[in-house]
Amino acid sequence: MLEQIEGEILALYAEMREYDHYLNCEECLIELQLSVERYLGTRGPWCINYQIEECIPEFYPDCPKAEDYEIGYYSYSGEDTSSEDTIRFIKDRLTWAIKFTDKRFEAAFKLVPILENWSVSRGIPEVSWIDGMIDELAGNPTLFLIGV
Ligand SMILES: [Zn+2]
Repeated sequence: MLEQIEGEILALYAEMREYDHYLNCEECLIELQLSVERYLGTRGPWCINYQIEECIPEFYPDCPKAEDYEIGYYSYSGEDTSSEDTIRFIKDRLTWAIKFTDKRFEAAFKLVPILENWSVSRGIPEVSWIDGMIDELAGNPTLFLIGV
């Protein structure tokens, strides 16, 4: 059980480091720009994937919305539709994702003592349960009703 939460903590930390690198690396930003303008952001971190754009307001109300940017797109006709605003979109999304992931990272630590005191008679918690608890702890702690 504790290995699962340790693995999750390490994964969240790696995610934040990765996003921070993208934010500060010209080459990676250009690659992400190509991903967004040619492949709807499907190549790269999940936060720039705007194939899932319609879910963003419902699940992540504070996430910057693609509609507020003049995002360029790739055209086979050869006209240059690449846009500086695409970079602004990517940077805003990455900055948002770092904060979002940091909240989950902090929440994951709160789960450690809960799992340390876990009674085997309750069964082994599933990974999806751990994930759900992290989200709940990161979002609204007052909804945290598990009896520990
Ligand atoms: Zn890079």
